[in-house]
Amino acid sequence: MKVRILGCSGAICGVGGGTTSLLVDDDILIDAGTGVGELSDAELAHIDHVFITHSHLDHTAFLPLMVDAAAEYRTQPLTVHAPQVTLDILHAHLFNNLIWPDFTVIPSAAAPAVQFAALEVGHSMSLRGRTLTALPAQHVVPAAGYAVDSGAGSLVFSGDTTTNPVFWAIVSAMPRLRHVIVETAFPDAHRATAVAAQHYCPSLLAADLHDVRFDAELLISHLKPVHAAQIMRELNTALHRFDPHRLDAGRVFEL
Ligand SMILES: [Zn+2]
Ligand SMILES: [Zn+2]
Repeated sequence: MKVRILGCSGAICGVGGGTTSLLVDDDILIDAGTGVGELSDAELAHIDHVFITHSHLDHTAFLPLMVDAAAEYRTQPLTVHAPQVTLDILHAHLFNNLIWPDFTVIPSAAAPAVQFAALEVGHSMSLRGRTLTALPAQHVVPAAGYAVDSGAGSLVFSGDTTTNPVFWAIVSAMPRLRHVIVETAFPDAHRATAVAAQHYCPSLLAADLHDVRFDAELLISHLKPVHAAQIMRELNTALHRFDPHRLDAGRVFEL
């Protein structure tokens, strides 16, 4: 299994600075932020499943657009997976015939371009040997993270979250854990904003990880570009036993 980072920036930031999207092999996306723009038409046509962490645009902006683009090439609906509450938000506020057509009934209700499939937190599904599990997240809108397990190794992605001890209890007990991607959107000088917007800043993440142990690479995503260097300096001090590194778009994991 391969996982390719299409975008992981906390805000759009020029070429290669797209927002959250991870490509699993050639057929699964986790989130559909502007990083999806890295994919060619042929690559887009291969996407069969999109797992959404939450409804915010930096994680969903390209979902309506890719459904439309891929419909030209596809005979099967694209399946969007997320907790039901998130699917309901996407249907009511994106695919609502105002922001974008309701492709759950286009070209027809019997053969639509997109279909929704609920995956609740704590539940897993397997797709040709790859198991995706929805994990708890704590954000200003309903949110989830995801673990993806090839059977040989697993990668965890937090999605957008703030203080979340339940997530870390699950992660630290996860078998075959190889890579942990966690967001840290703000530096500690903006801790009040991180609390209000329900993101991590370095001190909040360090507090959550104080008693947590795992043997896996710790990678940081969703840094606000203007604060990225400061966030990493603070994390390298507060979390130095984990040796955290900034996640870069274009990185490919093999599991
Ligand atoms: Zn968000
Ligand atoms: Zn976000």
